Amino acid sequence: MKSTLLTIFLGLILTSATFGQKTEKPSGKPKLVVGIVVDQMRQEYFYKYQDRYTEGGFKRLMNEGFMMKNGHYNYIPTYTGPGHASVYTGATPSTHGIIGNNWYVPSLGRSIYCAEDSTVTAVGGSAENGKISPRNMLSTTISDEMRFASNKRSKVVGIAIKDRGAALPAGHMGDAYWFDSKTGNFMTSNYYYDTLPKWVSAFNEKELAKKYLSQKWEPLSPIATYTQSIADDNEFEGPFIGMTSPSFPYDLPALMQDNGEFGLISTTPYGNSLTLDMAYAALEGEQLGKRGEMDLLAVSFSSPDYIGHRFGPSSVEVEDTYLKLDREMEKFLNYLDKEYGKGEYLVFLTADHAVADIVDYMKSENIPAGNFNSRFILTQLRGFSQAQFGEGNWILNFSNEQVFLNKALAKEKGLDDEKMQRQIAEFLLGFEGIKEVYTATDLRRNEYLFGRKNLLQMGYNHKASGDLLLILEPAWLSNSYKGTTHGTGYTYDTHVPIVFFGWNIQPGSSSRYATVTDIAPTLSVLLKTRLPNGATGHPILEITDKK
Ligand SMILES: [Zn+2]
Repeated sequence: MKSTLLTIFLGLILTSATFGQKTEKPSGKPKLVVGIVVDQMRQEYFYKYQDRYTEGGFKRLMNEGFMMKNGHYNYIPTYTGPGHASVYTGATPSTHGIIGNNWYVPSLGRSIYCAEDSTVTAVGGSAENGKISPRNMLSTTISDEMRFASNKRSKVVGIAIKDRGAALPAGHMGDAYWFDSKTGNFMTSNYYYDTLPKWVSAFNEKELAKKYLSQKWEPLSPIATYTQSIADDNEFEGPFIGMTSPSFPYDLPALMQDNGEFGLISTTPYGNSLTLDMAYAALEGEQLGKRGEMDLLAVSFSSPDYIGHRFGPSSVEVEDTYLKLDREMEKFLNYLDKEYGKGEYLVFLTADHAVADIVDYMKSENIPAGNFNSRFILTQLRGFSQAQFGEGNWILNFSNEQVFLNKALAKEKGLDDEKMQRQIAEFLLGFEGIKEVYTATDLRRNEYLFGRKNLLQMGYNHKASGDLLLILEPAWLSNSYKGTTHGTGYTYDTHVPIVFFGWNIQPGSSSRYATVTDIAPTLSVLLKTRLPNGATGHPILEITDKK
C-alpha cells in the first residue's frame, strides 16, 4: 500500500516535472522573444552616455549581445510608422506600403493615418483613439510568421504609448495595446478583442499614469553632471506650454492641463516606466514564454521621440531620458533572467529612426543647416503651375516632401504628365534647401542601386506615393523652428542600434553596413520560421552563422 502510494506520488512528481519542462521550454527555440524599439534612438547614444550607464542595462546589451555598429534605415522617409513596419516586415515602404505616418490619398481627397482603420472601434479607451489596426500594412511581419509557424500557438503582444508603435509590430495576427491620452489607460480596438482582457482592465485600475503625473520630472543627478549636453536653458529647445524656459524641474501636475492632459506623460521619462509596467503585466497576464511555445513581446518606447522632438539630441532632457531608460532596462533584463533564465530568451533592440540636430543649434556652431518652409513652397508652386498650365487646382497636396499633382485635371486639359512633372521639378530646384527632385516617372522607369536616390526608391510605393519627391540639403528640416525632427535619408536619421542579445547569441560586434530590414530575416533564421512575405533584407550572418 505504502509503496503503491509512493509510486503514484513519485509518478506524479515525474509527470509534473516532465510536463513542466515541456510546457516551459519549446525545443530548439527561445521561450520568449522580446523586440524593443526605442523611438528616435541614435546609435550614438550607446556611447555618448555610457560612462553613466549601469552595468546591467544598455552596456550589458553591448557587452553580452551582438551589435551591428553601422546599422541604418535604407529608405526615405525615416518616420515612426514606416520604421516599425520595416523592422518587423524586413521590407521597406515600397513593399509594405506604410509610406509615412500620414499620407495623402487622391481618391479620398484627404490624408490617411498609417494605422487608421475606419471599420473598427475603440475597446477600453476613447472612441477617437480606437480606430486602429495594422490593415494598411501590406506584407506579413516576423510576428505573423511566428504565429503561422506554431499554428497560432505562439502569442504575440505589442505594447507602446503610440498606437502605431504597438499595432504594426504585433502584425496582422497579434494583439496590440496602446496608451489612451484621454483616459490614461491602455486600450485596444475590436480588430483584436471585443472587450479588454482581464489583466488589461486590472492594470488600468491601478491608474499608474495618474500616479506618475502627480510627480515632478527631476534630473537623475545634479544638472552640472550632465556634461554630454548643452546648457539646460537655451534658445533652441521648445518649452512646454505655460513655461518660459525649456529647463528643469518640470512640475507635471501644473503642466498637465495645457500640455495634453494624460498625454503629457509621453514627453517625460515616466512614459517609458509606464510602458514597461504594461509590459510586465502582459508577460504575466498572458503567461508569455511559460506555455511551452515561443512567444513574442514587442515593446516600443515612444517617449524618447516626444522628448527628442521638443528638446533635441543635445539636451539635458534627452540625456536624462536615456540614463533613466538604462536603469529601467537593467531592471527589465534582471526580471527576464529571473523569470525565464539567462540565455533562454532572445532580445533584439533597435530604433524606428534616429534624429537630426536642432537647426538653429547647428547654425550657431557654423554647420550649414536650414529650415524648409513647406507652406511657402506650396504657395509658390501653386502660382507657378497656374502660370504654366492655366487656372485650376494643380497641386492637390504637399506632404512628406512629396507633391501630389492633379492628374485628372491634367488629363482633362490634355497635358502630358511627364512633361508637367519635369517642369515642376526644374522649378523646385530653384529654391534654397532643395537638393534634388525626382519625378514618379524617374522612380518607375529607373532602378537606382545606391545613394540617396536608392533610399528614395525603397520608400517609393507605385500606388501611394506622390508625383514629385524632394530631397533637401543635409541638416535642412521641414517646418522645425524650436526643437527638431527626422525623416531624411542622411546618417543622422538613418543610423540606429541593431543589437541581438540572449538565446543563441555570442557576444561581439561588427562595423559592416547592415540595415534594419535585416532584423526580421535574422530572426526568421534564428527562430526557424518563414521569412516575412515581402522581406528584402538579409540575415545578419555574423549572428546566424557563427561557429
Ligand atoms: Zn518623431
